[in-house]
Amino acid sequence: MHCLSKIQCIYVRHRIAVIGGGPAGLTFARVLHRHDHPVTVIERDPAPDARPPGGTLDLHEKLGQLALSKAGLLAEFQALSRPEGQAMRILDTDGTVLRDWRPRPDDRANPEIDRGQLRDLLLGPLDVRWGQRVTEVVPGTRDGVLVHFADGRQETFDLVVGADGARSRVRPAVSAATPHYTGVTLIETSLDDVDTRHPDLARLIGDGSVAVYGVNRALVAQRNSGGHVKVYAQFRAPLDWHTDLDRHVNQNRRAGMDASLDLADADAVRSSLLAMFDGWAAPVLDLLRHGTAFVHRPLYVLPVSHTWTHVPGVTLLGDAAHLMPPLGVGANLAMLEGAELAESVAAAPGPGDLDEGVRAFEEQMWARAGRWAKITAVGLERLVSPDPAEALALFDEVQPS
Ligand SMILES: Cc1cc2nc3c(=O)[nH]c(=O)nc-3n(C[C@H](O)[C@H](O)[C@H](O)COP(=O)(O)OP(=O)(O)OC[C@H]3O[C@@H](n4cnc5c(N)ncnc54)[C@H](O)[C@@H]3O)c2cc1C
Repeated sequence: MHCLSKIQCIYVRHRIAVIGGGPAGLTFARVLHRHDHPVTVIERDPAPDARPPGGTLDLHEKLGQLALSKAGLLAEFQALSRPEGQAMRILDTDGTVLRDWRPRPDDRANPEIDRGQLRDLLLGPLDVRWGQRVTEVVPGTRDGVLVHFADGRQETFDLVVGADGARSRVRPAVSAATPHYTGVTLIETSLDDVDTRHPDLARLIGDGSVAVYGVNRALVAQRNSGGHVKVYAQFRAPLDWHTDLDRHVNQNRRAGMDASLDLADADAVRSSLLAMFDGWAAPVLDLLRHGTAFVHRPLYVLPVSHTWTHVPGVTLLGDAAHLMPPLGVGANLAMLEGAELAESVAAAPGPGDLDEGVRAFEEQMWARAGRWAKITAVGLERLVSPDPAEALALFDEVQPS
């Protein structure tokens, strides 16, 4: 973008692209839209509902909800969200209830919302370019930052914002960091129509979540809207655990099973999980027994306090910038960062101001995300731990009484 004077630049709009239509990218675009600033939203998925949106998210008052208020969407969020979903029950592996926390009726600290509902709320009037996969971003060309697409096209922008998640294709333009495995794997399954089809499990889960912590193992079930429940089995294991079940799954239950597990075979994954969690209370194991599809998600993270030398014209948001263990904060940070960067871009009259604003934003993001990355790294160690008492102690430290 060329400006003859600062006054002229006030009337020139920066060419902004955000890569990724997740919580970070959509919040960024929605706040810019509120400021009447044009933005190009580029998403590889061919349509909003091209794949299942994932589980429920709790949005914190000072993070995700603050971002929604910057987007002018807080009232709509409050109408959709489930404050009762904050309820949390912790069981011992034998089924004994250890904690049963319920929010007050007026508690709006961390209400839950389905990811699909949040996506639709943020999408609203936004014009997303669906089905466009970015392969590379090259800063510093004569006309700005060059974006390469999988179909061979190229396009330039003044600012490219990488909100393209854990495996970001924008990140290499600013940083050589890559995510590494935490040593914890998560397998996700779900139950539908739980109140009618599995009323005992519906009572076990209650309005919010139930969690059970064992030795290096955990099972968490979370209620979504419409009687849908997501179940997460978590365990410490090497990345290739499924190729050597004899070492990683309970021997007593292994008789007659293959040594290697086909992760696409739902019945085989279910059997392996039941063997791995053998000895836990029958109602807890029913959460796995009734699960349908099983999704394998080894947990990866970026280095704690990931930063980079500022590169004019490119920045990162959300998981692309600071992938951390999924302990209820990643989407919240992603959204607040999206809102803050958008406000900074909208307030920048000229190119120099745009770059200064991005620099200042990065400093703020790095400081906050670094704090949360440390908290969540320690949190994962304590929640999937050789000593299950650690998980209970952590709950008591963070849960309001
Ligand atoms: C099991 C689980 C539970 C979680 N629970 C919570 C929770 O309760 N609360 C919370 O705050 N966080 C939670 N998180 C973390 C949260 O999901 C992430 O931190 C959040 O989704 C990050 O948002 P994002 O927009 O940065 O990235 P993403 O949500 O990953 O979105 C990235 C987008 O970019 C698109 N994209 C990727 N590559 C390209 C490309 N090359 N070109 C174009 N588009 C591309 C993707 O299709 C996607 O739409 C959880 C995570 C997991 C795994």
